Amino acid sequence: LRNIASQNQRLRALISLRSEETVLAELSALSNDTDGELRGKTVVLKDNICTVWGKTSCASRMLEDYQSPYNATIVDKIAENKGVFLGKANMDEFAMGTDNIHTIYGPPLNPLFKAEHSTGGSSGGSASAVASHMCDISLGTDTGGSVRLPAAYCGVIGFKPSYGLISRWGVVAFAQSLDTVGIIARKIEDVRKMFKVLNSHDDKDPTSISNSLRSRINTRNNDLQPRGRPLRIGIPREFNVDSLSAVVKQAWKSTLVDLRDAGHELYTVSMPSIANALPTYYILAPAEAASNLARYDGIRFGFRSEIDGDEHVLYGRTRSEGFGTEVRRRILLGNYNLSSGAMTNHYIQAQRVRRKVQMDFDRVFATKNPLSTTPTPTHDEHTVDFLVTPCSTDTAPSLEDIYAQKSPLDAYVNDILTVPASLAGIPAISVPRAAPDGRTVGIQVMGQYGDDDRVLQIAQEIM
Ligand code: GLN
Repeated sequence: LRNIASQNQRLRALISLRSEETVLAELSALSNDTDGELRGKTVVLKDNICTVWGKTSCASRMLEDYQSPYNATIVDKIAENKGVFLGKANMDEFAMGTDNIHTIYGPPLNPLFKAEHSTGGSSGGSASAVASHMCDISLGTDTGGSVRLPAAYCGVIGFKPSYGLISRWGVVAFAQSLDTVGIIARKIEDVRKMFKVLNSHDDKDPTSISNSLRSRINTRNNDLQPRGRPLRIGIPREFNVDSLSAVVKQAWKSTLVDLRDAGHELYTVSMPSIANALPTYYILAPAEAASNLARYDGIRFGFRSEIDGDEHVLYGRTRSEGFGTEVRRRILLGNYNLSSGAMTNHYIQAQRVRRKVQMDFDRVFATKNPLSTTPTPTHDEHTVDFLVTPCSTDTAPSLEDIYAQKSPLDAYVNDILTVPASLAGIPAISVPRAAPDGRTVGIQVMGQYGDDDRVLQIAQEIM
C-alpha cells in the first residue's frame, strides 16, 4: 500500500483503490487461514472487469460513474481463494488500443523507464502495477494482444490462456469471439496459481467450454510426452517481420540458442496465412465491437448527454460525447464492414482468412486441436510442440514518439505478432528476456489449443 501511495500518482497504473482499512482487515483475517490457492496474494483487476466495489469504468466517459451490481465470476473465484484486491487498473478505453493512451485518466507510465514511456495496451495499468510491485498478480483482457504486449513492454509475464477456458461473465465485451481474460505477474508460479483458480466451466458464459471438452483435453494432455524429453520448437518464418528491431532479434536468437543448448530441437516452419492476420483482426474485432457497444445508448445505463430532443438526437449525442476517438473509429469501421456493400468482401472474407490462420496453426502443431474435426496431423518433421517468437517488434516507445504518430495504423501494426494466436484461440504467453543492452524484450510462446500447462512450462525455461 505504501508502494502504491508513493508511485501511483506518477504511474497512473491504478484508477480506483480499495480503502486501506478494507485491505488491511482482509489481510489480517487471513492470518488464521491455511487454505486458499491465492491466500494473501495482492490482486489488481483491469477496469473492464465488473466488481460490486468501486467503479467499472472501462476508462471511458461513457461508464465513468458506472457501479456494477454484480461481480464477474472470476472476481468471486479469486475472493473464494483468498486473493486480496487492491483496486482497478487503467486501460485503453473499452480495451481498444496498443499504447494505453486512449484513457480518460491519462496514460499509465512504464516503470522500467525514467522518461515517459508507454506501458503498452490495452491492459497497461495492469502491467504497470505488477512491474512496479504494487501487487503480486493482475488480470487484464487480451483480444488481440492486450495482455501480452503490455507485459512485454513492462518486463513482466503476460499469459493469454486458450479461448473459452476462463469465464468472461461480468467482463465487459469488446470482441466476444476473441476476448480472453489474461494473467500478469512477475513469477510464473503466481501465473499458475491464478490460472488454476480461474480455469473452470461457467454456466453463465455461453462461450465457456464444457466440462466434457475439458476432460477430453485433459486426457489428450496426459498422453503427451513426459516433461524433459526434447521438445520440438518451431520458428515461424512469417514472424520475422521487417520491422523487428535489432534488440528484439538478438533476444529472440539468444532464447532459441538457450532452448537448443537445453536439448530441445529447433525447426523453421512456414505459416503463409499469418501475413493476413493483422488486417483480418482489424476487420473482425471492430465489427464485433460495433455490435457490442450498441448498448451504450444513454438510455439504459452509463453516460447520457444533456441534450433535449428526440431519441435519435440523444443517442447520437450521447455516443459522440461519451466515447473517445479510437472507440468511435472502431464503431464506424465495424459498422462499415458489416454494411451490405462491404459485408461479403470484408467481413465474410475475414472469417475465411481467420479459418486459414487456425488451419496453419493446426498444421504445424504435432498435437491435435481438440476443437477441430480434421484428421490428426502425422508427426513428421514439419510438426512442432511450440512456437517461439518475439511478442513485440520493439521495446516500449516513448509517449512523445507515440503522440508524433500520424495515423492510427502506426499503432495497429504493433499487434502483428500477437493477433495470430488470438484469431486461433490458442494459448500464448509473453516472458521477459534481458537483452545485452539492459533492456527487456518479451518473448512469446504459443502452443496448441488446450496445451496451456506446457506453454507455462516452456515459459519458465525461457525466463
Ligand atoms: N491492440 C489491439 C486493439 O486495439 C488489441 C486490443 C486488445 O487485445 N484488447 O484492438
